[in-house]
Amino acid sequence: MKIIIEALQRAELFIFPSKCRICGRNLAPGERVICSRCISQFPHHSGPHCPVCGKPYFSPTALSIPCADCLKKRSFLLHRSAGLYEGPLRSAILLFKFFGHESLAKPLAKFVSEGVREVWDVDCIVPVPTHPRRLRQRGYDHIYLLGKALGKMRKLRVRRLLRRSRFTPPQAGLPRWERLKNPVGSFAVARREDCRRVLLLDDIWTTGATIGEASRVLSQAGYEVYALTVARAL
Ligand SMILES: [Zn+2]
Ligand SMILES: [Zn+2]
Repeated sequence: MKIIIEALQRAELFIFPSKCRICGRNLAPGERVICSRCISQFPHHSGPHCPVCGKPYFSPTALSIPCADCLKKRSFLLHRSAGLYEGPLRSAILLFKFFGHESLAKPLAKFVSEGVREVWDVDCIVPVPTHPRRLRQRGYDHIYLLGKALGKMRKLRVRRLLRRSRFTPPQAGLPRWERLKNPVGSFAVARREDCRRVLLLDDIWTTGATIGEASRVLSQAGYEVYALTVARAL
């Protein structure tokens, strides 16, 4: 059934190639897949937040103090998400990740580059690697493509320092305690490069377990880790 739905969605793209995949409006010249109006409506949080992991606090009286998780030791120095994983940003990430729209790497990278200020004083970008099995299903490494687009905008090299050391089932659909233990042992440092401060890049912060594990492995290998995701799930 899933295959049929995906095939229909791909066919629809060929029948209506000039419509925004999110809102259905006609695309202007130069726009691809989604319109600039939808991009301008990507949700983000500018209020108080945890200064370490960026967790948003929604109470108007909240202070920007570390959250309970960050009072314990983190293996990254700082994490920020550019937006919230809902509305048009969620749709854009799903189109980018599962529906073959590789060209969304550029507008998503632009959104991230413009929306996050604190993490750029690094030597290179390290994409969280996709497992080879999922790479074969998908045909492209979306995080790497995003990293390349960001690297171009920010004049940073992209280094594949991590590799997957075992297959982990998709996080969605697993209970929270499973999701938290799921990534442990899933990464290994593939090789060392001439960078010391790295910017670890992923698409979505869900529980923080993937960023936590990848940065643990990197920091154990001597890297100083900053982390960045496109969107934070609430
Ligand atoms: Zn639109
Ligand atoms: Zn925090």
